[in-house]
Amino acid sequence: MSELISGRTRVCGLFGFPVEHSFSPAMHNAAFRHLGLDFVYVAFAVPPRELERAVAGIRALNLAGVNVTVPHKEKVIPYLDELTAGARLAGAVNTIVHRDGRLVGHNTDGAGFVRFLTDDAGFNPAGKRVLLLGAGGAARAVAVHLALSGAAQLLVANRTLSRAAELAALINEETPARAWAVPWPAKDDRVLPERLERKPPGGHDPEEGEGTFVLDTNDGNIKELAALVDLVVQTTPLGMHPREDTCPDFPFDCLRPGQVVVDLVYNPPRTLFMERAARSGARVYNGLGMLLYQGVLAFELWTGEEAPVEVMRRALPF
Ligand code: NAP
Repeated sequence: MSELISGRTRVCGLFGFPVEHSFSPAMHNAAFRHLGLDFVYVAFAVPPRELERAVAGIRALNLAGVNVTVPHKEKVIPYLDELTAGARLAGAVNTIVHRDGRLVGHNTDGAGFVRFLTDDAGFNPAGKRVLLLGAGGAARAVAVHLALSGAAQLLVANRTLSRAAELAALINEETPARAWAVPWPAKDDRVLPERLERKPPGGHDPEEGEGTFVLDTNDGNIKELAALVDLVVQTTPLGMHPREDTCPDFPFDCLRPGQVVVDLVYNPPRTLFMERAARSGARVYNGLGMLLYQGVLAFELWTGEEAPVEVMRRALPF
């Protein structure tokens, strides 16, 4: 953002309802200022009944683009001209880019999660095995982008099994990755054999180290799965402020050093889930990286400039 808003200032923004507590204006305006770009980022409280007209306003007012947040991420899709593959599969858009009158919907939540993994956690998802706890909107964006980034196998564990099965089916049908639904938390911790629908073709015994693993569908349980995967992503709101005392039911003692564990919650910055997972020696991260890199990717899409990641990180209040 320049010192003075000029006649050439490009406007970006956020469409959500409410938006007052968003960290995005601070993050983007700090980055514009740092690079001396004549851009400004403004939060717009858009009630659901005004969403269509607000999207038309992106064209009418020639905005550079907007972020989209709750409750509009899914509802905005019919008003856009084009979607990226990730946004289409995630069924949600959090970033709109306006170019030459066309509105393109991106999902930088999922893509940002992957960029966080590679850039901050030093974890390349290609060929990896992932356990997701939860199957809501955040899980879907993360799962789809992990699969599009080459993750080999995804286990989706959820309280409502049908939701996990839907997400696993989407991954199996639309991406090269293989996915399974896992009932969780399970009464006796056992994975129901019929839910592990597809064995990976040509899978290898995990003891052999290389390649994909074969789940023993008669004997699998969440403890084995926790020990086998390379990455665990906690996507439920458990542990989030103001319920910091809550924690997903998880066999923490099955984790091992070398595994990566990410809790998408970032407030508080260290959840009970992270605390317990860290005792196993696993590398543990909160959801701030995902929040940061969804903004980094949006910034780069709107401006065409490399984002000043550390400036944006420092603008976050945690
Ligand atoms: P959502 O669509 O409502 O999904 C919530 C998921 O959590 C569902 O799978 C739900 O299971 C499960 N769940 C909720 N309460 C549970 C409980 N008591 N026990 C077990 N499972 C439970 O929400 P979302 O949009 O995916 O967001 C989930 C979390 O991700 C929130 O904490 C949000 O702040 C965080 N998030 C972080 C970022 C970031 O940038 N770091 C971005 C997006 C979201 P059922 O299907 O059985 O209901």
